[in-house]
Amino acid sequence: MDRSRLWRVYLLGGGVAVGVFLLLPYGVPRDALYALIGLSSAVAAFTAAVHSGGVAGRWTIRRATRRAWVLMGLGQLMAVCGDLMWLHYTHIARTDPFPSLADLFYLLEYPLVTAALTLLVLNRRSHFDREALLDSAILIVGLALPYWVLLIQPSIGGYESAFDQTVALGYPVADVALLAVLMWLLNTSYTQTRAFRLLTAALVMLLTADVIFIVTEGEPILDLPLGDLPFLGSYLLWGAAALHPSAPDLLRATPEAAPSLTPRRLLTLTAVVLLAPGTLIVQLAFGLELDAWAVAVTSAVLFMLVVARMAAMLRRMQEQADRLDEIARTDTLTGLPNRRTLDAQLAREYERAARDGAPLCLALLDLDHFKRFNDTHGHQAGDRLLAGAATAWSLVITSGDMLARYGGEEFVLLMPGRTLDDAEHLLAALRLVTPEQQTFSAGLARWDGRESPLELLRRADTALYAAKDAGRDRTMRAGLPARSPVKPPPVGRHRAPGGPS
Ligand code: GH3
Ligand code: MG
Ligand code: MG
Repeated sequence: MDRSRLWRVYLLGGGVAVGVFLLLPYGVPRDALYALIGLSSAVAAFTAAVHSGGVAGRWTIRRATRRAWVLMGLGQLMAVCGDLMWLHYTHIARTDPFPSLADLFYLLEYPLVTAALTLLVLNRRSHFDREALLDSAILIVGLALPYWVLLIQPSIGGYESAFDQTVALGYPVADVALLAVLMWLLNTSYTQTRAFRLLTAALVMLLTADVIFIVTEGEPILDLPLGDLPFLGSYLLWGAAALHPSAPDLLRATPEAAPSLTPRRLLTLTAVVLLAPGTLIVQLAFGLELDAWAVAVTSAVLFMLVVARMAAMLRRMQEQADRLDEIARTDTLTGLPNRRTLDAQLAREYERAARDGAPLCLALLDLDHFKRFNDTHGHQAGDRLLAGAATAWSLVITSGDMLARYGGEEFVLLMPGRTLDDAEHLLAALRLVTPEQQTFSAGLARWDGRESPLELLRRADTALYAAKDAGRDRTMRAGLPARSPVKPPPVGRHRAPGGPS
């Protein structure tokens, strides 16, 4: 049969079988059918294990998926053994099957399935995800409280033998352990295949069935075996998950992003955290015996977990902010500071130069005939030249200087503390290391102590144009600003752009 339809046919057939189960009278055929349904899910799980071997992907993931399905198959098989022993006790030996050896088999299912889920969790995580782990911890601590208050604590001391007591406590304790790994798995998985969702439904069904069984003590509901329905539903969903074409993909590597605190997740966490005070409120309102210790301890643990969760989120946000800040300040192609960073640095250097009276020089650099280079060698080669020049120049300048990409093939070199002569020497050194025998022209200006950064850049730009006009591959000094801080230039005296300033 077409494998893509097998799981639907299985579910449909299983549904019919459950219908027959409900119609059959109490007796061996009915309970045998129950065990048969369980066996079908175990067989399906082993089939999934066989198919998991054929999935392309990392060998370790393939092995982990296969092992998980084998463990789940064994777990289902244990449950079927429990079913058969139950059948033996009730119909053949005619003794009370609870608690009995059947429970030992039933209880063996839980560590096997928990181990399978743990295997899935460990292989789904590509990195240590603190936030997912904390979310899972909050959920499990919050949910463990109703298990304790409603199922575990009332049964303590109510049994004749240690064996009976252990069996009675075994189920809710095993449930909490299974629930814990399920929460962990749900918080760490990002691509949920249909098989994975069916598996989750099967587990939730099993946990629900256990709660109903403990509360009703296995007695029929409304004279019908309704308590068996979630157990049977769990078997069928499990089998369908195993037969679904996506069953071998349970472990497919997923692009993992940090889990965001979505409204749904926040709502779930809030509801679970409120279970602790809610328990106390209900007990106070109805005059019930207070579980003060359990509520107090759970609340304390939850508070600590919530604070840790907040700290983890704050740390991630700070890291993101730092990364964004870095992106906003640098030019992607060259890795140099961008214009925004240059503007900020220029303002700081203005203040320092004004305070110390030290010189502050600025040069505007422009690669010569860069368009021609692009046209000859291609745009990518042009990009490489820009990045290469940025790297080569950065190795020559000192930590006091700042080289920024101004735009296109233009760069600004800010040189605090250097005189014009000094700056010109530095530019000459840059010229020597420019890659691909390329040249650049530069306009150099020294801050006059009054002009704005824009005016300083404009003067450097004018000088750059003069350098281009004069034949390129050279540095030109800018003329004095139109409004000199010392004294205005004498009327009629012309100063060439490249002349001394
Ligand atoms: P001049 O010597 O007069 O400066 O001539 P030029 O060709 O260098 O100057 P022009 O302004 O005519 O051309 C600049 C070229 O720089 C045009 C544009 O395509 C190129 N350019 C600007 N930004 C980039 C970039 O990021 N990568 C590449 N590959 N080219 C760029
Ligand atoms: Mg240009
Ligand atoms: Mg140019």
